[in-house]
Amino acid sequence: MLKTLLDVIFPPCCIACEGFLPWAAQGAFCIPCVERIQLVRPPFCPRCGRPYRHEWQGDHLCGACLLRPPSFSLARSWACYPRDLDASHPLRQVVHRFKYGRQASFGKPLGLLAAQACRPWFQPSGIDLIIPVPLHPRRLRWRGFNQSVLLGREVGREWGIRLDPFVLIRKTETPPQTTLSLKERGPNVRGAFRIAPRQTVERMRLLLVDDIYTSGATVNECARVLLRSGAREVQVLTLGRTVS
Ligand SMILES: [Zn+2]
Ligand SMILES: [Zn+2]
Repeated sequence: MLKTLLDVIFPPCCIACEGFLPWAAQGAFCIPCVERIQLVRPPFCPRCGRPYRHEWQGDHLCGACLLRPPSFSLARSWACYPRDLDASHPLRQVVHRFKYGRQASFGKPLGLLAAQACRPWFQPSGIDLIIPVPLHPRRLRWRGFNQSVLLGREVGREWGIRLDPFVLIRKTETPPQTTLSLKERGPNVRGAFRIAPRQTVERMRLLLVDDIYTSGATVNECARVLLRSGAREVQVLTLGRTVS
């Protein structure tokens, strides 16, 4: 009742353009904004979730996964995040304001979108714990929150899985992956993460959550550390995924 009352006093609006959402609209984006967002749909690489452009290509392993299989067993994302996305694109606007404009309130609707859309690719009953990709303490202090924790918390709520943001630690502050070339991204994060003291992931099936899957180097390095520490399996869920 309280929610209905609040909706009347403060009608929900689109998180991208701030236009009014139709009455009882489900979701965070208005229809014109949602129509501009391209969702990640099959066919794609069954391992890393890289989407292919043409239907006739069918699901098949991508070159990167064939050449160097990633540590995680599966990665899926909600929406495509093209590299050349113009600044007015609703998804870009929202991700920028979420990460750099300290709009922590976006975590809930975005996490919910990712959880609901990616649900068919995962088996929540086969996941023991959600681990958000950690930020370095210095970046966390600057931003005030870790966007991956906020996204992961919603996924956990939707799927009924516990989240623990204290298992994995980012021990070195690396330059943001977006400022580097694809080749530089692997070495950039190598050795950047470790398991926190007195924490264990032994025999656990884990779900890593992050905001954008770019080259996959960050989640791959996290997965490598978790598996080396005894995790049974690591899967990955991200809000967006860069596509060329
Ligand atoms: Zn809108
Ligand atoms: Zn792949």
